[in-house]
Amino acid sequence: GDLADGVTRGVEGFAASVSETFMEPVIRLGVTGLSRAGKTVFITSLVANLMDRGRMPQLRAAASGAISSAYLQPQPHNTVPRFDYETHLAAIIGPDPHWPDSTRAVSELRLSLKVRQGGLGGLLGAVTGPRTVHLDIVDYPGEWLLDLALLEKGYAAWSRETLERIDQRPGAQGFRDALAMADPAAKLDEPVAQALAAAFTAHLQAARAAGFSDCTPGRFLLPGEMAGSPVLTFAPLPAPSGATPRGSLWREMERRFEAYKAEVVKPFFREHFSRIDRQVVLVDALGAIHAGPRAVEDLRRAMTEILGAFRPGRNAWLTSLLLGKRVERILFAATKADHLHHTQHPRLTAIMQALMRDARRRADFAGAETAAMAIAALRATVEETREQGGESYECVRGRLLENGREAALYPGELPEDPAALLDPARDGAEHWLDAEYDVMRFAPARLTLRPGDGPPHIRLDKAAEFLIGDRLG
Ligand code: GDP
Repeated sequence: GDLADGVTRGVEGFAASVSETFMEPVIRLGVTGLSRAGKTVFITSLVANLMDRGRMPQLRAAASGAISSAYLQPQPHNTVPRFDYETHLAAIIGPDPHWPDSTRAVSELRLSLKVRQGGLGGLLGAVTGPRTVHLDIVDYPGEWLLDLALLEKGYAAWSRETLERIDQRPGAQGFRDALAMADPAAKLDEPVAQALAAAFTAHLQAARAAGFSDCTPGRFLLPGEMAGSPVLTFAPLPAPSGATPRGSLWREMERRFEAYKAEVVKPFFREHFSRIDRQVVLVDALGAIHAGPRAVEDLRRAMTEILGAFRPGRNAWLTSLLLGKRVERILFAATKADHLHHTQHPRLTAIMQALMRDARRRADFAGAETAAMAIAALRATVEETREQGGESYECVRGRLLENGREAALYPGELPEDPAALLDPARDGAEHWLDAEYDVMRFAPARLTLRPGDGPPHIRLDKAAEFLIGDRLG
């Protein structure tokens, strides 16, 4: 109305919060996770299931009928790419179902929900009628969140730590070779800088593919339109013993590292991260467990880093940016639980809870409400028990991506005690999910929705209840 318009012309940011508080409430839900964790599938399925609410029994406002309608609207931020919901949904539910293209950068989508007040016992409902709650979903790569740790480091410290880390990870030989050819004190030669950055990027990609989580700087894996620019053309160097003259490789790399922090990392936190109210962090825990103890250890550390980003006061720059605003709820969700028979789900949940407890402890965290669970945003399998050699195996059956054939596969076991995964000393001692997990690449199932098939997701409704349920009452 007039009031809002007048205020908007005055102070834009303030107007936004006024209209959010007194008029139509807005929930800004951040969805993150490392690449391939399942962000795109999660958002697409969440939106589809909120629009057609028949299969969300654990979201109370959906089950009770309090949400009377849900529809997409133009998002408030004009310069942020829109999450391409329609294309992603068409991929999943089309005649030849396939997985949508993954998240490469930040995007947004506004879903508006008409909510009947009083549906959950509110007092004002009868008087004021239905109100609109806007759910602004912000999709962004988890790699960008991990970059927060870079802000606290200078180039020398970052180089030292990164070079130490490289020794425990695969795919570093090419980078070591490039380093051996480079002299940090020599005058900058752009092709040398480019070769170093390219070899370093290749190493990060190999480490990521091998299941390692912290592969910062985040934009090296997902460069978007910054590919090839100087802010992405740097690499860690061994500290030179002598002086580093101006114009040397070391000095220039240091300058670019600082530019990356100032011109890439900070704007992301300022423009996107600082506005989030609720956050879901999606985790491909099964992939890390399958990759082995070192990948699990790395995942644990990445979860601690991520939780640390949400801890008030952790980073002085971020604290001054947030001005006391904080994320209210954080959910860590292990995705793709449909790779496991439901008899294994309690173990996966226990593992996520143990990882999260540990991350909370290490991040010295006292902030948002947190939860951990195991979900599948889009169930691609049904369950089946296979008899073989007198033993019975709890399998999941689905259509394989590579040949379109149906197969019932047994992923192997998860440990009953999460500590069996978390103890890095056990490297090589025990392997989990070591049966057919490796070949479990299922295509999205054709949605048949026969009675008894159950919902086409696993606990997506429970995740939604934790994240936004309280704001829909
Ligand atoms: P993003 O990089 O975080 O956006 O990840 P995506 O959402 O694109 O998911 C990456 C891949 O994980 C997909 O292409 C699927 O192969 C798989 N995936 C994601 N969610 C599910 C799920 O709920 N069930 C199964 N079976 N696979 C999933």
